[in-house]
Amino acid sequence: MRAQKCIYIFLGPPGSGKGTLSHFCVQNLGWVQLSTGNLCRKHIAEETEIGKQIDFALKSGKLVSDSLINAMVYEWFVSVYERADNIILDGYPRTLRQAKALYTFLKENLPEILINIVRFTISDELVINRICGRLVCKNKDCQAIYFQDPRSDQSKNVCKLCSSELGRRNDDVMETIQERLQTYHRYEKDLLDFYNTVNLETKHLIVEKPLNEVVEDFKKLVGINRA
Ligand code: ADP
Repeated sequence: MRAQKCIYIFLGPPGSGKGTLSHFCVQNLGWVQLSTGNLCRKHIAEETEIGKQIDFALKSGKLVSDSLINAMVYEWFVSVYERADNIILDGYPRTLRQAKALYTFLKENLPEILINIVRFTISDELVINRICGRLVCKNKDCQAIYFQDPRSDQSKNVCKLCSSELGRRNDDVMETIQERLQTYHRYEKDLLDFYNTVNLETKHLIVEKPLNEVVEDFKKLVGINRA
Protein backbone atom coordinates (compact mmCIF):
# COMPACT_ATOMS: atom_id res chain seq x y z
CA MET A 1 0.00 0.00 0.00
CA ARG A 2 1.31 3.47 -0.88
CA ALA A 3 1.91 5.94 1.94
CA GLN A 4 -0.43 8.91 2.27
CA LYS A 5 1.17 11.86 0.52
CA CYS A 6 1.67 14.91 2.72
CA ILE A 7 2.53 18.48 2.06
CA TYR A 8 4.06 20.65 4.78
CA ILE A 9 3.68 24.37 4.34
CA PHE A 10 6.38 26.12 6.41
CA LEU A 11 5.22 29.60 7.32
CA GLY A 12 7.61 31.83 9.25
CA PRO A 13 9.67 35.01 9.08
CA PRO A 14 13.01 35.14 7.27
CA GLY A 15 15.74 33.58 9.40
CA SER A 16 13.32 31.54 11.51
CA GLY A 17 14.93 28.25 10.46
CA LYS A 18 12.53 27.00 7.77
CA GLY A 19 15.46 26.15 5.51
CA THR A 20 17.44 24.51 8.31
CA LEU A 21 14.55 22.28 9.42
CA SER A 22 13.77 21.47 5.78
CA HIS A 23 17.38 20.45 5.30
CA PHE A 24 17.13 18.11 8.30
CA CYS A 25 13.99 16.49 6.87
CA VAL A 26 15.56 16.07 3.43
CA GLN A 27 18.79 14.54 4.81
CA ASN A 28 17.29 12.34 7.54
CA LEU A 29 13.75 11.54 6.49
CA GLY A 30 14.09 11.48 2.70
CA TRP A 31 11.59 14.28 2.22
CA VAL A 32 11.58 16.69 -0.70
CA GLN A 33 11.81 20.47 -0.26
CA LEU A 34 10.89 23.35 -2.47
CA SER A 35 12.36 26.66 -1.32
CA THR A 36 10.99 29.34 -3.62
CA GLY A 37 13.86 31.59 -2.47
CA ASN A 38 16.45 28.97 -3.53
CA LEU A 39 14.65 28.51 -6.83
CA CYS A 40 14.69 32.28 -7.44
CA ARG A 41 18.42 32.50 -6.58
CA LYS A 42 19.14 29.60 -8.95
CA HIS A 43 17.39 31.43 -11.80
CA ILE A 44 19.46 34.53 -11.04
CA ALA A 45 22.74 32.59 -10.87
CA GLU A 46 21.96 30.89 -14.18
CA GLU A 47 20.99 34.25 -15.72
CA THR A 48 17.74 32.85 -17.14
CA GLU A 49 15.01 35.18 -18.49
CA ILE A 50 13.10 34.74 -15.22
CA GLY A 51 16.31 35.40 -13.29
CA LYS A 52 16.76 38.76 -15.05
CA GLN A 53 13.19 39.75 -14.23
CA ILE A 54 13.42 38.95 -10.52
CA ASP A 55 16.96 40.06 -9.70
CA PHE A 56 15.95 43.52 -8.48
CA ALA A 57 13.10 42.21 -6.29
CA LEU A 58 15.43 39.83 -4.46
CA LYS A 59 18.19 42.40 -3.94
CA SER A 60 15.75 44.87 -2.43
CA GLY A 61 13.84 42.35 -0.30
CA LYS A 62 10.59 42.76 -2.26
CA LEU A 63 8.34 39.91 -3.33
CA VAL A 64 8.42 38.42 -6.80
CA SER A 65 5.08 38.58 -8.64
CA ASP A 66 2.49 35.99 -7.65
CA SER A 67 1.97 34.78 -11.21
CA LEU A 68 5.67 34.10 -11.77
CA ILE A 69 6.08 32.31 -8.43
CA ASN A 70 2.91 30.24 -8.90
CA ALA A 71 4.04 29.11 -12.34
CA MET A 72 7.47 28.08 -10.98
CA VAL A 73 5.85 26.12 -8.15
CA TYR A 74 3.40 24.20 -10.35
CA GLU A 75 6.14 23.24 -12.78
CA TRP A 76 8.25 21.96 -9.89
CA PHE A 77 5.31 20.10 -8.34
CA VAL A 78 4.56 18.18 -11.48
CA SER A 79 8.23 17.18 -11.77
CA VAL A 80 8.54 15.76 -8.22
CA TYR A 81 5.06 14.59 -7.30
CA GLU A 82 5.34 10.94 -8.38
CA ARG A 83 8.57 10.26 -6.46
CA ALA A 84 7.83 12.24 -3.28
CA ASP A 85 5.61 11.24 -0.37
CA ASN A 86 6.45 14.17 1.90
CA ILE A 87 6.86 17.58 0.33
CA ILE A 88 7.94 20.73 2.17
CA LEU A 89 7.05 24.13 0.78
CA ASP A 90 9.51 26.56 2.33
CA GLY A 91 8.64 30.22 1.79
CA TYR A 92 5.51 29.53 -0.29
CA PRO A 93 2.69 30.58 -0.21
CA ARG A 94 3.63 34.05 1.02
CA THR A 95 0.60 36.08 -0.06
CA LEU A 96 -3.12 35.47 0.07
CA ARG A 97 -3.24 35.16 -3.72
CA GLN A 98 -0.53 32.50 -3.66
CA ALA A 99 -2.35 30.59 -0.90
CA LYS A 100 -5.66 30.65 -2.77
CA ALA A 101 -3.97 29.59 -6.01
CA LEU A 102 -2.13 26.71 -4.33
CA TYR A 103 -5.26 25.55 -2.54
CA THR A 104 -7.24 25.49 -5.79
CA PHE A 105 -4.37 23.73 -7.59
CA LEU A 106 -4.19 21.01 -4.91
CA LYS A 107 -7.95 20.50 -4.71
CA GLU A 108 -8.24 20.20 -8.49
CA ASN A 109 -5.13 18.16 -9.21
CA LEU A 110 -4.12 16.31 -6.04
CA PRO A 111 -7.26 16.10 -3.89
CA GLU A 112 -5.92 13.16 -1.84
CA ILE A 113 -2.83 14.98 -0.50
CA LEU A 114 -2.83 15.84 3.22
CA ILE A 115 -2.00 19.49 3.92
CA ASN A 116 -0.12 20.48 7.11
CA ILE A 117 0.46 24.13 7.96
CA VAL A 118 3.43 24.65 10.31
CA ARG A 119 3.94 28.17 11.60
CA PHE A 120 7.37 29.03 13.03
CA THR A 121 7.15 31.42 15.98
CA ILE A 122 10.15 33.55 16.94
CA SER A 123 10.82 37.19 17.88
CA ASP A 124 12.03 39.71 15.27
CA GLU A 125 15.05 40.47 17.45
CA LEU A 126 16.24 36.88 17.35
CA VAL A 127 15.76 36.49 13.60
CA ILE A 128 17.83 39.61 12.98
CA ASN A 129 20.63 38.17 15.13
CA ARG A 130 20.46 34.88 13.31
CA ILE A 131 20.49 36.42 9.84
CA CYS A 132 23.54 38.52 10.79
CA GLY A 133 25.42 35.26 11.46
CA ARG A 134 24.09 33.33 8.47
CA LEU A 135 26.33 32.01 5.72
CA VAL A 136 25.14 30.08 2.68
CA CYS A 137 26.87 27.79 0.24
CA LYS A 138 27.47 29.71 -2.98
CA ASN A 139 26.82 26.63 -5.13
CA LYS A 140 23.37 27.37 -6.61
CA ASP A 141 22.42 23.68 -6.54
CA CYS A 142 23.31 23.32 -2.86
CA GLN A 143 22.66 26.59 -0.95
CA ALA A 144 23.17 24.84 2.42
CA ILE A 145 22.83 27.17 5.42
CA TYR A 146 25.40 27.70 8.19
CA PHE A 147 25.49 29.93 11.25
CA GLN A 148 28.52 31.43 12.91
CA ASP A 149 29.68 34.34 15.00
CA PRO A 150 29.60 37.27 12.54
CA ARG A 151 32.86 38.64 14.04
CA SER A 152 34.88 35.52 13.17
CA ASP A 153 36.87 35.07 9.97
CA GLN A 154 34.39 33.97 7.30
CA SER A 155 36.90 33.64 4.49
CA LYS A 156 38.06 30.15 5.56
CA ASN A 157 34.65 28.51 5.37
CA VAL A 158 33.68 25.86 2.87
CA CYS A 159 30.47 23.85 2.57
CA LYS A 160 30.53 20.48 4.37
CA LEU A 161 28.29 18.97 1.69
CA CYS A 162 29.87 20.08 -1.58
CA SER A 163 33.10 21.89 -0.57
CA SER A 164 32.06 25.10 -2.34
CA GLU A 165 32.78 28.50 -0.89
CA LEU A 166 30.40 29.99 1.72
CA GLY A 167 29.30 33.60 1.70
CA ARG A 168 26.63 36.06 2.78
CA ARG A 169 23.38 36.28 0.82
CA ASN A 170 23.03 39.55 -1.14
CA ASP A 171 19.77 40.31 0.67
CA ASP A 172 21.11 39.61 4.19
CA VAL A 173 21.84 43.27 4.88
CA MET A 174 20.03 45.20 7.60
CA GLU A 175 17.87 47.42 5.37
CA THR A 176 16.63 44.48 3.30
CA ILE A 177 16.11 42.28 6.35
CA GLN A 178 13.75 44.92 7.81
CA GLU A 179 11.85 45.10 4.51
CA ARG A 180 11.47 41.30 4.40
CA LEU A 181 10.29 41.16 8.02
CA GLN A 182 7.71 43.89 7.42
CA THR A 183 6.47 42.08 4.32
CA TYR A 184 6.17 38.86 6.29
CA HIS A 185 4.12 40.51 9.05
CA ARG A 186 1.91 42.28 6.48
CA TYR A 187 0.81 38.97 4.95
CA GLU A 188 0.90 36.54 7.86
CA LYS A 189 -2.54 37.32 9.29
CA ASP A 190 -4.26 37.05 5.88
CA LEU A 191 -2.64 33.66 5.36
CA LEU A 192 -3.63 32.34 8.79
CA ASP A 193 -7.21 33.62 8.33
CA PHE A 194 -7.44 31.94 4.95
CA TYR A 195 -6.24 28.55 6.26
CA ASN A 196 -8.77 28.84 9.06
CA THR A 197 -11.57 29.63 6.60
CA VAL A 198 -10.84 26.52 4.54
CA ASN A 199 -10.58 24.40 7.72
CA LEU A 200 -6.85 23.79 7.57
CA GLU A 201 -5.44 23.63 11.07
CA THR A 202 -2.28 25.66 11.72
CA LYS A 203 0.27 23.95 13.96
CA HIS A 204 2.54 26.30 15.90
CA LEU A 205 6.22 25.44 16.31
CA ILE A 206 8.29 27.50 18.74
CA VAL A 207 11.71 27.85 17.13
CA GLU A 208 13.58 29.94 19.70
CA LYS A 209 15.49 26.77 20.64
CA PRO A 210 18.50 24.73 19.47
CA LEU A 211 17.87 22.73 16.28
CA ASN A 212 17.78 19.31 18.00
CA GLU A 213 14.92 20.48 20.26
CA VAL A 214 13.06 22.07 17.34
CA VAL A 215 13.37 18.78 15.43
CA GLU A 216 11.91 16.80 18.36
CA ASP A 217 9.03 19.27 18.77
CA PHE A 218 8.37 19.20 15.04
CA LYS A 219 8.20 15.39 14.94
CA LYS A 220 5.74 15.35 17.82
CA LEU A 221 3.67 18.13 16.27
CA VAL A 222 3.20 16.36 12.95
CA GLY A 223 3.19 12.82 14.34
CA ILE A 224 6.45 11.36 13.02
CA ASN A 225 7.87 8.51 15.07
CA ARG A 226 10.80 7.34 12.97
CA ALA A 227 14.38 8.65 12.61
P1 ADP B 1 13.77 34.76 3.47
O1 ADP B 1 12.61 33.92 3.93
O2 ADP B 1 14.97 34.67 4.36
O3 ADP B 1 13.41 36.19 3.11
P2 ADP B 1 13.83 33.28 0.95
O4 ADP B 1 15.04 32.57 0.48
O5 ADP B 1 12.64 32.46 1.32
O6 ADP B 1 14.34 34.17 2.14
O7 ADP B 1 13.35 34.36 -0.15
C1 ADP B 1 14.26 35.28 -0.70
C2 ADP B 1 13.54 36.21 -1.68
O8 ADP B 1 12.99 35.42 -2.76
C3 ADP B 1 12.36 36.98 -1.12
O9 ADP B 1 12.76 38.17 -0.46
C4 ADP B 1 11.57 37.27 -2.41
O10 ADP B 1 12.18 38.30 -3.17
C5 ADP B 1 11.74 35.97 -3.21
N1 ADP B 1 10.66 35.00 -2.89
C6 ADP B 1 10.83 33.79 -2.30
N2 ADP B 1 9.66 33.16 -2.15
C7 ADP B 1 8.71 34.01 -2.64
C8 ADP B 1 7.29 33.94 -2.76
N3 ADP B 1 6.59 32.87 -2.36
N4 ADP B 1 6.64 35.01 -3.32
C9 ADP B 1 7.30 36.07 -3.76
N5 ADP B 1 8.64 36.22 -3.67
C10 ADP B 1 9.35 35.19 -3.12
